[in-house]
Amino acid sequence: MKRIAIVTGASRGIGREIAKMLAKEDIQVIANYNNSEKKAIELQEELKKENINIDIFKADISKREDARKLVEYTLEKYKKIDILVNNAGISEYKMFTEETDSDWNRVINNNLYSAFVMCQEVIPNMIHNKKGCIINMSSIWGQIGASCESHYSVSKAGIDAMTKSLAKELGPSNIRVNSIAPGIIDTEMNKHLSLEELEYIKEEIPLQRIGKVNDIEKCVEWLIEDDYITGQIISINGGWSI
Ligand code: NAP
Repeated sequence: MKRIAIVTGASRGIGREIAKMLAKEDIQVIANYNNSEKKAIELQEELKKENINIDIFKADISKREDARKLVEYTLEKYKKIDILVNNAGISEYKMFTEETDSDWNRVINNNLYSAFVMCQEVIPNMIHNKKGCIINMSSIWGQIGASCESHYSVSKAGIDAMTKSLAKELGPSNIRVNSIAPGIIDTEMNKHLSLEELEYIKEEIPLQRIGKVNDIEKCVEWLIEDDYITGQIISINGGWSI
């Protein structure tokens, strides 16, 4: 029987390419989106041309009831969940003293609370099956902190702490939990950066280039196929954090 994977935030960027890669590996993908319905439909149609079927599901996973509906839909249709990729996230550039309560709550809810609720909704089925792989999308900033992105950095540090705690708690149930911490990856999330800023960043990175979505995809593939790695924060940043 096919493995079943939920990928959150799969309409654009990193999540979209992860969903595509998994679907091409003969894994049944439930690609979650929130605002970008057109892009999610395009993804589904693009894969259909290659005779690959994926499910797309609209859910604002910063809300418990939406996250629950996404998981209920998957379990009703496929009866199990083997893989959860908690990829959805937002970023915001703001001075710490200018962050409002609502900025703080929006970033924490979209990046950290969403992963918390998705894990809580999915884990009972994985425990029942004594099998599961959870991959959380973190960030270099969760490890070293970003100036003017304190709420974002806190959300990703929280993801890393949750990853380690869950790896300990769920290891005996044969559920592996890992984080991927990208540096800078070429997606819409960084479209606010000017060419000059990107050049400056490249100079700071030992491997002298901006990351590609494919750099992350390869790691996701590896973490899924492995069966002895858990509780790790895998840095994919061209050496930027050393
Ligand atoms: P992106 O291109 O901006 O795409 C973000 C995705 O997340 C979209 O598909 C969006 O869906 C979805 N999303 C956001 N909030 C959501 C919610 N509440 N419910 C459901 N979906 C939601 O970002 P990206 O660059 O691919 O980033 C993906 C992940 O990698 C994020 O967690 C980000 O923090 C992390 N990351 C990225 C970089 C980078 O340089 N790009 C570096 C480090 C970490 P809709 O458009 O449908 O709403």
